[in-house]
This record gives sequence, structure tokens and C-alpha cells, in this order.
Amino acid sequence: MTTPEVSELPEIKESEPVLETSDNSFSFEIEKRLNGLGRAGIIHTPHGDIHTPAFMCVGTRGEVPFVSMEDLHEIGAQAMLSNGYHLRNASEDIAAQGGLAQWSGWSGPTLTDSGGFQVMSLGSGMGKVVAMENQENLTNTPHRERLAHVTEDGIRFWDPVIEREDFIGPRESMEIQCRIGADIHMAFDELTSLADDYDYNKEALARTERWAQTSLEVHRQHRDDLGYRQSLYGVLQGGRWEDLRRATARKLGAMDFDGYGLGGAFLKDDLGEILRWCSEELPEDKPRHLLGLSHPDDILVGISMGADTFDCVAPTREARHGRVYSLDGPVNLGPWKDSDRLIDDECDCATCRAGWTRGQLRELWKSRQDKEKLYQYFHLASVHNLRFILRLMEQARVAILDGTFEEFKESFLQRYYGKTGSSGT
Ligand SMILES: [Zn+2]
Repeated sequence: MTTPEVSELPEIKESEPVLETSDNSFSFEIEKRLNGLGRAGIIHTPHGDIHTPAFMCVGTRGEVPFVSMEDLHEIGAQAMLSNGYHLRNASEDIAAQGGLAQWSGWSGPTLTDSGGFQVMSLGSGMGKVVAMENQENLTNTPHRERLAHVTEDGIRFWDPVIEREDFIGPRESMEIQCRIGADIHMAFDELTSLADDYDYNKEALARTERWAQTSLEVHRQHRDDLGYRQSLYGVLQGGRWEDLRRATARKLGAMDFDGYGLGGAFLKDDLGEILRWCSEELPEDKPRHLLGLSHPDDILVGISMGADTFDCVAPTREARHGRVYSLDGPVNLGPWKDSDRLIDDECDCATCRAGWTRGQLRELWKSRQDKEKLYQYFHLASVHNLRFILRLMEQARVAILDGTFEEFKESFLQRYYGKTGSSGT
């Protein structure tokens, strides 16, 4: 038997995902349960598995700022979350290339959110001012006064980037997300703010539930368009009211979603209770994603209350603002001039392994005129902060599997927040 010439061998690309087209390409298995609602498990997707609890790194436009795909693999990232709103104008190109995995170069599991959050952040709902915490886009534009308007079919809004009016509803969001082709999509929902009262939340929730039904119907028409099964999570709103939260969890829980997004603007003190109401009503065998939170206390409370996956822009955004994480609490680099301390002695990220000190990082961060140095800082600090959160998730998962989660949670929080037990953020 002769050895074939190299050119005769079939070309195998290790990073190329194996795509499945069966209905079983998405599934969730629970490996271990805590005494309460928390659990460790595995989410199977067409582009690979996510071992939960897990943090999804946010690559809003298909890439994590200042962090390469190689870096993401190196720090143990399992999945990337991108945004349907920000990618909507590129969605035709993304579909033509076979979906988000091929287009972005991230070969692992992906998730998109519906864009509802971004659209609501642009303006107001039903004539009411939406006081969102996250108004980064708005503060940088002269269009702050321009409003988004909620209608029965969706949200009409002014797009400050392309400078024209646009519209997204459940139908549009599903079509956009199915062209982008992440493994997991979010139903289109209306996010209310902390300032909205019970009556408005009730009204908005009814609309979100109608949109959930439309999302399911439209998604079903397009979920196989790219050759693999794309999954859909229903999103739970309902503010801080137990009756609204439980009712919507029962209603959406009875619908044919693959999993659930836990949405809302939360006060820190209310988070655990609200998540408990949702998780107690939702089907146990479907995964739950807590949208947009990543402080360690929020993550650990979320895990306790049954959330399986998380995402947030905070680790990379805070890194760029000079705030880096350590086991003894977050560190603002400002006062650490000339310091030879590492950010965190126990961190295993490439930045810390290479010996970058707080003083060196601070100097790069202060190099506002030298973009090369500044961007090097953004890279080093983003890698560190993401690894810190990913490592927290890995340790939480091991602790659940070992039956030591409560001890792990208590000792982590005690060290991170000191005696106050609060992040103060
Ligand atoms: Zn590090």
C-alpha cells in the first residue's frame, strides 16, 4: 500500500465546524443540580458545546474589541454574543458567507440578541422617556432628543449612524437574526426601565408576549435557511413584580422555545428574587440566559437562581476605562503609578503571565497621544478582565460539580467585596 501524495489527501480544516441539520442539533443536558435552582450542564449547538454555567464574550459587531479570535480561544471563551441591531445592515453579507461563524472567524457557538435593548436605549417607549443605564451611544450623538416609538408591530426609531428613521419589530428581528445565523437567537421584546410603573410594565409585557408568538412563527420559517438549525429563546420581562414575572414565565414556558432569556433592568437587591420567580416557573430542562450582567456578585447570585449563561460588555468596557479585576476586588489603575505589582497574583491570563505590572499598564493607558501604546493597553487589559470572568465561571462550574458551590460563592464574594458584601457599582 502506497502513501498518497499530500495533494491527494482531503483538506481538513481543524477549525471548521461540523454542521448538523437534524432537529437535535440544539439540546441541553443537566449534569448536576444544586439544592436550590442552580445547575451545571452542557448546551449542545450546531457549532459546538457550551459547558455551563458559562460567560459569553460580547462581540457586538462580530468581534470583541482589541481581542483576537486566537486570544478568545486562549482565555477559554466558549461562545460569542453579537447583536442583531448592530449587524442588521451587514446581515445579507453574513448570510452569503454562510453565517456568523464563517463571517466572523469565531468557529464556536454564537448567540445574537434581538436589538430591542439597543433600540429602546435610543429613545422612549409610548411617549415615556426611557432612562436606561446604558446610554453610551446616545451620549456621543447629537440625537439624544430623538425618540423611539413603540407600536403594536415593533419599534420605530431614528438611527444615529445612518441618519434615517428605521423600524424593527419581531418579524424584522427574526429575519435579521436568521440571516446572521448565530446558533441561538433572542425573541424580540420590549425592555422597560426602572422608572416604569406597574401599569406600564403590564401593558409592555402583554406586547412582549404577543411579539414572542410572532417571533416563534417567523423564526420557524427561516431557522434552517443557512443549512443548520438555529434556536430561539423567549425573553422574560415584567419588571420587579412577582405576579407579572411568574405569569409571563408560565406563559412563555409553555411555548415552544429552545431556552429563555432573563431580561429587565434590575436593582442589585432585587435580582435574586426576580430570577427565582422566573426559574421556579420555567421548564427545568431548557437553558436560561441572564442578559447583560457580569459583576461577580450578579453572576454568582444568577447561578444560584438557575441562570446557565451570561453576557456583558462590562469586562472589556471597564478595562478600557482603566478598571481591571483582581480577586481582592476591582482595581482602578489611576493611583498605581510606577507600581511593580501584578494586577492579580493568581491570574493565569497571558497579560499576567507575561509579567505586566499595574504601573506599566497604567503608563500605557495614559498614553492617549500614542495610539499604538493605548491600543496595546486595551488589548492587555481586555484579555485580563475577560479571563477573570471566564475563570470565575470555570471555578463556579467545578464547585457545582464537586458539591462545594455555596462555600466557593461565599469565599469568593468575601474576598472580592471585602466586608461590605456589595460591589458598590
Ligand atoms: Zn490576568
